[in-house]
Amino acid sequence: MANDKISRCKQEALLRRINKFLAPLPFFFINLLILVIICFEFLVVLPYEIEVRGFYTFMALVAGGIYIIVNIYYHLAKAAFTNPGSPRKSDQAPLCNVCDNYKPHTVHHCSICRQCVIRMDHHCLLINSCVGLHNHRHFFQFLAFLFLGCFYALLSGFYTIYYNIFT
Ligand SMILES: [Zn+2]
Ligand SMILES: [Zn+2]
Repeated sequence: MANDKISRCKQEALLRRINKFLAPLPFFFINLLILVIICFEFLVVLPYEIEVRGFYTFMALVAGGIYIIVNIYYHLAKAAFTNPGSPRKSDQAPLCNVCDNYKPHTVHHCSICRQCVIRMDHHCLLINSCVGLHNHRHFFQFLAFLFLGCFYALLSGFYTIYYNIFT
């Protein structure tokens, strides 16, 4: 019986160590993916576009692109590294049966983060953190700028796509 408990503890410790090693990988992957797309945009698409667009249009495209890139990385970093928000320490009811701490109506316990999160939306694997009260805004802005970036890539690469695929 005691041996069983020890082996289960060892198993849990091993799983925790594997999780600690694997959990940041999706965050690393999403950063790399965005970087590859940016490199493609700036090294392949924009040098082609300068041949067919006016100088001022091209400069406006570069400025707009940099603005979107800065915002994407800023909000991604903020969403990933801001604490989503935990309830204050108190033994007031109702209690979370894992943390043994005060758990108001809008709070959920995340079993991956091992903490209670205020206004928890979901545990996001891509940012390796929960989306809660304090980082919900940054997470949403990251998605919005990502969408804007896709739109920008379509708009800025219009001639590249048009001349190389449709003619
Ligand atoms: Zn909890
Ligand atoms: Zn979580």
